[in-house]
Parts: sequence; structure tokens; C-alpha cells
Amino acid sequence: MAGPAVFAAPLRYVQGPGALDTLAEELSRLKATSPLVLCDPAVRGALEHRLVGTVIDFNGEASPGEIDRVAAAARDAGADALVGVGGGKTLDTAKAVAHPARLPLVIVPTIASTDAPTSSLSVIYDDHGAFLEYRFYGRNPDVVLVDSAIIAQAPVRFLVAGIGDGLSTFFEADASATTRKPAMAGGPPLLAATTLARLCYDTLLADGLAARHAVEHGVVTPALERVIEANTLLSGLGFESGGLAAAHSIHNGLTVLHETHDYWHGEKVAIGVIGLLVLEGKPQALIDEVIDFCLRIGLPVTLSDIGVDADADTLGPVAEAACAEGETIHNEPFAVTPDMVVSALLAADAIAAERRALLERTVELPAVCA
Ligand SMILES: [Zn+2]
Repeated sequence: MAGPAVFAAPLRYVQGPGALDTLAEELSRLKATSPLVLCDPAVRGALEHRLVGTVIDFNGEASPGEIDRVAAAARDAGADALVGVGGGKTLDTAKAVAHPARLPLVIVPTIASTDAPTSSLSVIYDDHGAFLEYRFYGRNPDVVLVDSAIIAQAPVRFLVAGIGDGLSTFFEADASATTRKPAMAGGPPLLAATTLARLCYDTLLADGLAARHAVEHGVVTPALERVIEANTLLSGLGFESGGLAAAHSIHNGLTVLHETHDYWHGEKVAIGVIGLLVLEGKPQALIDEVIDFCLRIGLPVTLSDIGVDADADTLGPVAEAACAEGETIHNEPFAVTPDMVVSALLAADAIAAERRALLERTVELPAVCA
């Protein structure tokens, strides 16, 4: 029923301090001479002298209107390639423009905040930031260029959010491997994807805290390199070919509450991961391990950490949206109803509050989402 297994990946992945300076070389490998560069305005001033081609600003939302605007700019400029420079929404917009137009695509993440860079899909939001749809292109970026020195200079909250996104990868791939449901790549997972997803989780737990310290000091260390790789490459390949499940559906559900819009993708996914573990009835020791790690790294663990009231009335619409038709929560190895999601989120919230009270007695915890 599931069809053949599929593994998808970008053609090249380049990571290290100074990687951005190979952009011209990578473009010439793609035989591109006049690329359009879609750039996050927050980094344009610092990076523009290292970019090649026509540079335009990203307007802030990966929305249908923004995609049409950038596509028109690419046509007007006669662009023969697209380069996306910025965070997940900038990169998803670049994909949404390049792939339908069959333009070569170079992705340059300037933060390690999501696993969007390597994948062949975009997450589309409306102009107010509510989740609309996934768009699939059947084609991954030609090059993903990750300059770790740029990522080390970005505010630490980005790296921490990326760790939240990466924390979900193994648990969701594990659920999908059990059910053999098709992942985003188009088929059930191969061993490669589930193995990379596991490596992602192990790397984050081993190196996450040291990587946080490195970014706090704006420096590149081997631990930071490993966490950038986990957040970007391992999580990206792991989710696309390994499969998503409840954590990302809970994230999508949370986006219906406007009070969560100030919190980032990976931060809401962290709440989704804890919810998934409770929903699946995972061993308490594992749930505690994940919550304690989130607390040490500065990820939200309770609903109030992301501005949400922990009551059934508030969570009802969240759970309904999380269980909508087509949501990845239906990749879980059992049928999931909105009531089950509300129960899991309320229980997860209580467990997380207790773990925080316990941990606070022994260590000083970083501020959440800061
Ligand atoms: Zn994600």
C-alpha cells in the first residue's frame, strides 16, 4: 500500500566558516551567470558585499502573495538561478519561486533555526502567519551553503529554536517507520533516514548545551558545527525521508492561536514533541530526558511558555487543527482524535511544570525563548 521507499536530498551540502565565499564557485558549477538573490533584510547589510547577482529583500512571510511578487522579480531580472539567503521562511519562498520556474536553486541559511534548508517542500502561511499548506516540488535545492561563522553570530534564540525542531525528527521518523506511511519524500522511510534522525537526536543531546555556549560568545567550535549539522542536514534529511507525525501537527494546530505567533517554529515544535511523547505513552524516563534538555537549553516546555492557557477550551481548536485531514498526526501508529491531543497536551504541561520546579532547585536555567 505504501509503495517503494524513497530517500531525497540536495545535490550538495557545504558547511563551515567562510562557506558563503564559495557562492560564486557554486553558481558557476550550475552555469548560472545572473542569479536573483532573495535576502532577509536583517542580514543584507552585513552580507551584501559577499553576494553575487541582483539582490532583493524578503518581505517577511512565506505567503502566496510574497511568492508571486518574487517570481515576478525573477522574471523581470531575467534570472537564471535563485539564491535564498536568510531563515526558513525566506528559504521556503525561494524554493516556491525557483522550482516551478525550473531555476537552479542555492540555499544559504543564515540561522540554524529550522530544518527547511535541505528539503524539497515549502511551508506556506497566510499573511498573518497562520499555517496554510505544504507545497511539494519533487526537487531538492541544488546546493545548501551553510556558513557556520554567520550562524555563530546570530542571536542564540535561533539556534535553540532549531534544536527544538531537530528534537522532533527522530520521534516522528520512528512513528512513521512503524506505520510505513509515506514521508514527505513520497514513500516510507529507508534505514538511511531513520538512522540520520536518530543521529540527530543523539547529537543534540550530547552537544546542544556546548553549542549554545559557543553562539553566546559568537564563536565556532566543533560542538557548534555538529549541532548546525544536526539542525540543518540530519534533521532535514531525517524529516523529509523519515516522516513527520504528531509533533508537527501539534505545531500546526498551535498556529491557529494568535498568541503563539511571537514564538518560532522550533519553539512550538518543542511543545509538540513533549505532547507526542505523552500521546504515545513513552516511558517517563524518556519524557523527563526531553523536558530536562529543553529546560537546560532554553526551549519552552509548558503552554504558558508560549503564551497559551492550559485549558481544554483553548486547546480544543488547536487539537481540531492538529487532527485535520492530511495532517501528519495520522502517521502515528494508532488513530488519534482531538480529545486525545487535548489530554496529552494538558498532561504534558503538568509534567513539564513539575520538572521545571525540580530542576530549578539544582541549576540556573536560561530564560525561555530569549
Ligand atoms: Zn519543523
